[in-house]
Amino acid sequence: MRFFCLHMHSLELCETLYAEFGPQHWWPGETPFEIIVGAVLTQNTAWSNVENAIANLKRARLLTPTKLARAPLSKIRAAIKPSGYYNQKALRIKKIAQYLAKNYGDDLTRFLSQPVCSLRHEVESWKGVGPETRDSILLYAAQKPVFVIDAYTVRVAGRMGMTDKRAYRELQAFFESSLPKNPRLFNEFHALLVHLGKNYCRKTKPLCASCPVKTRCRRRIRR
Ligand code: SF4
Repeated sequence: MRFFCLHMHSLELCETLYAEFGPQHWWPGETPFEIIVGAVLTQNTAWSNVENAIANLKRARLLTPTKLARAPLSKIRAAIKPSGYYNQKALRIKKIAQYLAKNYGDDLTRFLSQPVCSLRHEVESWKGVGPETRDSILLYAAQKPVFVIDAYTVRVAGRMGMTDKRAYRELQAFFESSLPKNPRLFNEFHALLVHLGKNYCRKTKPLCASCPVKTRCRRRIRR
C-alpha cells in the first residue's frame, strides 16, 4: 500500500470520533423539505446564518413546497437575507419548491423513496445544486447511503493519510467502499468529520496536540 503505515480505517476513525465527541444530531431539520432548503441556504455561509433564515421562513409559514412556490420572491428574499447571496438563493429555493409542488405536492414521500439513481438525477437537475448539496439532500433528507464530501472531509482524509484521492467522486467512492452501506452511519460519520475539521483540524493552525486522532495521523507524526 502506498498509504501511511498507520493508516486508520474509516470505520475505526468513525468509532474513535464518536467515542470522543458523541452523537452530533445532524441534520437539524424538522422535515425533509426544511433539509432541502437548508442544504441550498448553507452554501457559502455559516450554519448559524442558515438557522436564522430557516427561523424566518418558519415564522412566515413558507416551509412547504406549495407555500414557498407561491410566495413572492421579495418575501422569500427578506426571510433568507441572513444566509447571504439572498437574491440568488431565493430564486433557487423558489424554483425547487415549484418543481416539488408541481410534481409531488407537499408530501415528499414518493419523491424521496425513489431509487437513489433516479432521485440523484432529479436533484442534480435543479439549478445551483452541486455535488455536495445534492448528496446532502440524498443522505439527510432521503436517508440514502450516499457519503457527503465537503472541505472538512477532504482536509481530514488528506492530512491523516487515509487516501491520496482528492476528486469528489473518488473520495466519495473511497468512503463508501470502506464502510457498511448504512445511511445512519454515513450521517453520523460525516457530522463527526465536520466537528473534527471545525474544532481541531482547522485550515490554519490545526490543534494537533489535543486532537483525538493525533497518534494515527500522518501529518502529525511527520512533523
Ligand atoms: S492530528 Fe492534526 S492534522 Fe491530524 S487530524 Fe488531528 S488536527 Fe488534523
